[in-house]
Amino acid sequence: YDDRDGTIWMDGKLVDWRAANVHILTHAMHYASSVFEGERAYNGKIFESRRHSERLHFSAGELDIEIPFTVDEIEAAKYEVMKVNGLSDAYVRAVAWRGAGPDMGVASARNPVHLAIACWEWGSYYGDAKTRGAKLDIAKWKRPSPETIPVHAKAAGLYMICTTSKHAAEAKGCSDALFMDYRGYVAEATGANIFFVKDGEVHTPDPDCFLNGITRQTVIGMLRDKQVKVHERHIMPEELEGFEQCWLTGTAAEVTPVGQIGTYNFEVGALTRDIAESYEQLVRA
Ligand code: PMP
Repeated sequence: YDDRDGTIWMDGKLVDWRAANVHILTHAMHYASSVFEGERAYNGKIFESRRHSERLHFSAGELDIEIPFTVDEIEAAKYEVMKVNGLSDAYVRAVAWRGAGPDMGVASARNPVHLAIACWEWGSYYGDAKTRGAKLDIAKWKRPSPETIPVHAKAAGLYMICTTSKHAAEAKGCSDALFMDYRGYVAEATGANIFFVKDGEVHTPDPDCFLNGITRQTVIGMLRDKQVKVHERHIMPEELEGFEQCWLTGTAAEVTPVGQIGTYNFEVGALTRDIAESYEQLVRA
């Protein structure tokens, strides 16, 4: 994927896709001093663009990283890189990291901070599960306590157990893994938040130890506009048995129905389809 035509924005310059490289002694490679964003553009407009750029700054702050570009500069850069690549429907990836420099130990205050923005076409994140309903495995790892790590940052270090859990899930023929949190409550998937439906009302985990996704917040707003009651609360894994419908939300995932979690089955029901369609209409509005 590194050997292709295209242009990437790096530290204020447009560089050839193949030349957008970093040195092996990049601090982030060794110590996960890196934060990123995942965004989607529809018809040339990035959905909730500014909120993503603001979250990138927030995540960096949580890691003592000062991004040398303002939110406005990041906004302009994202649209510039989409334009030079000729994309109007795209996935946009901004990443900020500590580079190589005099510090090769844990501390890295003297190393420069870099920012890069790439974009590419990315279809359905879960493939045909988008219509059929995804199958989820239960992850063996737990989402950590907010006293352990800055859980609301979109930081590379929080994704180590996402990758291994997703690999384990895929090896079992599942699309993704569902995490419980450090207390045993239902948390989120490896790159998406989760919702459940029971008796016409919606239940979703309280995001007190994981990312409160921008898509999650958008979907809660849509549900409330439709007069659907939404309960943000702690959900026990035993409750999975009683839920009728389930879906995932995320920038890449959009609204993806879930058909199965472990041994529990869910129908791809009317509310799930309604929310998936309404989200599609909203992002393209
Ligand atoms: N949780 C995790 C771990 C994620 O990686 C993502 C995707 N950014 C989400 C939730 C959903 O966040 P958003 O809706 O802001 O994309």
